[in-house]
Amino acid sequence: MRVLKFGGSSLADSDRFLRAADIIANNAQQQEVSVVLSAPGKVTNKLVSVVDNLLTNGEAELQISELESVFTQLFSGISNTLPQVDLKLLENKLKDSISQLRQYAHGITLLGMCPDNVYAKIISKGERISIVMMKAVLEAKGQPASLIDPVKYLYAKGDYLEGAVDVDVSTLNFKNEPLPQGHVNIMPGFTAGNAKGELVTLGRNGSDYSAAVLAACLRAECCEIWTDVDGVYNCDPRLVDDARLLKSLSYQEAMELSYFGASVLHPKTIAPIAQFHIPCLIKNSFNPQGAGTLIGQDTGEDNLAIKGITTLNNLTMVNVSGPGMKGMVGMASRVFGAMSATGISIVLITQSSSEYSISFCIEAEDKCKAEQVLREAFELELKDGLLEPVEFTDNVAIVTLVGDGMRTSKGVASQFFTSLTEVNVNIIAIAQGSSERAISAVIPEDKVSESIKACHENLFNSKHFLDVFVVGVGGVGGELVDQIKRQQPKLAEKGIEIRVCGLANSRGLLLDSKGIPLEDWRERMSNSSEEFSLARLIALVQRNHIINPVIVDCTSDHGIAAQYVDFLSAGFHVITPNKKANTDSMAYYHQLRNAARGTRRKFMYETTVGAGLPVIENLQNLIAAGDELEKFNGILSGSLSYIFGKLDEGMSLSEATNVAKENGFTEPDPRDDLSGMDVARKLLILARESGLEIELDDVEVEQALPPGFDDSGTVEEFMARLPEADAYFAEQSAIAAEDGKVLRYVGEILDGKCKVRIVAVDGDDPMFKIKDGENALAFYSRYYQPIPLVLRGYGAGTEVTAAGVFSDLMRTLGWKLGV
Ligand code: ADP
Ligand code: ASP
Ligand code: MG
Repeated sequence: MRVLKFGGSSLADSDRFLRAADIIANNAQQQEVSVVLSAPGKVTNKLVSVVDNLLTNGEAELQISELESVFTQLFSGISNTLPQVDLKLLENKLKDSISQLRQYAHGITLLGMCPDNVYAKIISKGERISIVMMKAVLEAKGQPASLIDPVKYLYAKGDYLEGAVDVDVSTLNFKNEPLPQGHVNIMPGFTAGNAKGELVTLGRNGSDYSAAVLAACLRAECCEIWTDVDGVYNCDPRLVDDARLLKSLSYQEAMELSYFGASVLHPKTIAPIAQFHIPCLIKNSFNPQGAGTLIGQDTGEDNLAIKGITTLNNLTMVNVSGPGMKGMVGMASRVFGAMSATGISIVLITQSSSEYSISFCIEAEDKCKAEQVLREAFELELKDGLLEPVEFTDNVAIVTLVGDGMRTSKGVASQFFTSLTEVNVNIIAIAQGSSERAISAVIPEDKVSESIKACHENLFNSKHFLDVFVVGVGGVGGELVDQIKRQQPKLAEKGIEIRVCGLANSRGLLLDSKGIPLEDWRERMSNSSEEFSLARLIALVQRNHIINPVIVDCTSDHGIAAQYVDFLSAGFHVITPNKKANTDSMAYYHQLRNAARGTRRKFMYETTVGAGLPVIENLQNLIAAGDELEKFNGILSGSLSYIFGKLDEGMSLSEATNVAKENGFTEPDPRDDLSGMDVARKLLILARESGLEIELDDVEVEQALPPGFDDSGTVEEFMARLPEADAYFAEQSAIAAEDGKVLRYVGEILDGKCKVRIVAVDGDDPMFKIKDGENALAFYSRYYQPIPLVLRGYGAGTEVTAAGVFSDLMRTLGWKLGV
């Protein structure tokens, strides 16, 4: 004998209902089956809202007619596909049921209240119609079927709404009045009968429990729970895209998972089947071929220490504390006694080792009752100041890790808390059961989705996601997107998924939380006309609970740079080759770093100096290791490296500038390079990185033009005038050459001062050979002298810069890259 239970999700429309009937009929061909059915789809919720509306508005006609139409649609769908079904019978059943509901409604309106026994009858009506429908469908298919009345067979203790079935007594009931053989016996879930023979319900979502007790009473071979997912996943598949399907779970693991929120199974389900060692299989009615998840003996096939991550929402944390609690015997029992006497269930408890406080979580809806009951129970202690006023923290949730194997594996707790910290979650309390099968953290409710995603990424070695928003998709930004597109498959093999979720420039904005398809991104971008808006990015990130959003600013815009603090505060990492933020005021410079620290986000700008060369990283490492920068000089501009290199070869300044411009080595307006401001900004970044507190105005800048040269007008006018500077540079070069020297445009840091200027260097100087767009940076430090640490290589160009940005992007994943 097998017991098959179909949940509301498997019965929600006529197609699903018929599919469930097929599964039942196929199984019945193989062996005896009993079936437990829920109400279709949202029917129970609608019944609850009928009562709510009666109590608040005195009527519920709208809700009742909605209910009626749910069923008439189901009936017509079924009879279209299966014309032989006894439609009249179904319609009569519905008519009776609705007229009875109206009678109850009338009574509730008169009384102004709904007694629990009546409430139980109303909210379990959906199941009653489900079973009549299923019997009719099976019979129409030629499969004999009978109905089981749970009020008669299942004996429950407890109140009308949360009955607990006595399996021993109920087993006897089945022995005394056996079910017909060769029939599919169909029982409505969710209900049982009390000692007075009245209907009671088993708590919301209690049909799983009905199936488990039926399986226990009949000593079934297996209890199958048919639902709308392939089995039990390691976390709620609605929250995590790549949740992993579990092959098997022990009874205890299943118990903890369901207790702590895995709604695929009701927590009461496990006890009856575990008692009789009945395996329980969770199957998908949309995919009957799937293997499902087996609950019973853990087969070890999943090979996981942690089986799942769950959450419980809508909780309030209560904290009872006070100087009088220390050593006060029986304090905990008084607190919890008061709660249980009022019927408030406690979800989780923690106590500080000083015994100064006891904290516990309750359902948010019980808060008022708890407040009152604690005030009454501890009236004297509160008055005498032995207890402090009881504290309530609203809107909290519990995140729990579950797994038998946690007992024997180390580091799980630390990874758990690291993951929560990573998404900036403030942990309110922690609890671990002595079985070490579950470890829970109480956190603010609005952080649940991010927390689950981060734990899943980190604890299950699953994919790491990087969700990137590129602002400025011209040269470097565009190249970066192309590099990402090329690299995506290789990174995917390593479990890293980079999704470009946003692209923006001054003319358009594209957003897609699942990742913008990159094949034709340029075309899509040119068709978009929406404006960049930080608010929209934030809304997208929050709506989709993205845990690793990164903004890459590839503009040279001052306005965007001024928003970095806002980006960081909104939870984005910020990566940029844009020098504007780091060369803004010292105050903003510090503000940025504080924001990054405070939000645990990364602010990375390796490519602001020397493009792809690892300049910032090396300098930071030196300083962090206790070294001190004593002197620096370097060629920090690719275009000026090119232009000054050409002067050595006898080319004039104007000619060299023209060639450089044509080859794309200069900014569109070469004055941006020749003014020396670009180099000044780079030098300032290095100086600040080495610990100097200086402003851009403090940098002494000698432009790469003759003193007093007129640099006004349009680019064309300026370029036409540039040959007037040639004689000056030819002369300077010749003077230098007489001493075996060449001219170089150099940035220097010495004695806390920054200078950008033209210098003549001889063959011994590391700058002598630097030309053709190459950069060179010589760091003279306490450790590196008299021979400096020199970094050389291409310090400009969209490809190397984009590659440098890309490597910053990868570094946001930090330690996970080694996973
Ligand atoms: P039914 O109507 O069949 O009783 P439920 O809605 O009660 O179905 O339970 C199935 C749902 O439970 C799934 O659709 C899924 O969204 C949710 N769920 C939450 N946590 C998990 C989990 N860990 N594994 C599988 N499903 C889960
Ligand atoms: N229909 C009931 C409910 O929604 C029981 C169940 O489906 O499990 O609570
Ligand atoms: Mg369910």
